[in-house]
Amino acid sequence: THFGFQTVSEHEKAEKVYEVFHNVASTYDVMNDAMSGGVHRLWKDYFIERLGPTPGTTLIDVAGGTGDIAFRFLEYVRNQSVERDIQRGGTAAKGDGETGESLYQASSHVTVCDINQAMLDVGKSKALDRGQTAGMSWVRGNAECLPVGDNLYDAYTVAFGIRNMTHMDAVLSEAYRVLKPGGRFMCLEFSRVTNPLFRKIYDEYSFQVIPVMGQVIAADWKSYQYLVESIRQFPPQDEFVDRIKEAGFKVVTYENLMGGIAAIHSGFKL
Ligand code: SAM
Repeated sequence: THFGFQTVSEHEKAEKVYEVFHNVASTYDVMNDAMSGGVHRLWKDYFIERLGPTPGTTLIDVAGGTGDIAFRFLEYVRNQSVERDIQRGGTAAKGDGETGESLYQASSHVTVCDINQAMLDVGKSKALDRGQTAGMSWVRGNAECLPVGDNLYDAYTVAFGIRNMTHMDAVLSEAYRVLKPGGRFMCLEFSRVTNPLFRKIYDEYSFQVIPVMGQVIAADWKSYQYLVESIRQFPPQDEFVDRIKEAGFKVVTYENLMGGIAAIHSGFKL
């Protein structure tokens, strides 16, 4: 491949992934919009809807990068809190103190974990700009050995991250370890397009267009070439289901998005 990833050692792969995200951190959000035509936003919204967190949910978002999933999670829970408060005849909508909003801030929490400090720094400054600091913490750590205790979280999410990791089985068993019994694992990732004709068109698009966009927008061809290659090397939907089951998860299911361009996998620690 362009980086010769098949021949480099695991250590070199991890270093290369680190370098890629270090290079793309400041342009990451712009590139996501450019490459996907904004569709990644809809997928992430839908991903959180499928998770359907309730007020009080604790989440660890691994490979959380610049916080896209974390911000959506907090927004979703805030809306839930306000709705519940209104149902109880409360005052959240009026914003006068004893409200669903304060309930949500006190009890729901998201820990954003990423191996790359540059990505976390972009996320943290986004949080400051939005005035969104309550209910969030930012932790630098490797998904293959998470720097957190056992049985802590109601939910574990990983969006467009797992395909970059060297030891996927270690990542999945770490997900299992940190979840509470009853907790849910959810993964949003590029996957395998099911229709052969559509797959051909999509492959052409991604292989030809994305590295060029990377060059034009971020002056970085190689990093975006790597991103495309990593999508191709990731196991297809059913194979990934098996890996999740092997880590101990039950009721493992998946749902394709846009014909399999991406997929949401879900499993429970029971
Ligand atoms: N989840 C975010 C999103 O959807 O916008 C960011 C996804 S970005 C494509 C992939 C992220 O995975 C990068 O921020 C990278 O630093 C992180 N990453 C790669 N390997 C990792 C590892 N072993 N542990 C934790 N994070 C990792």
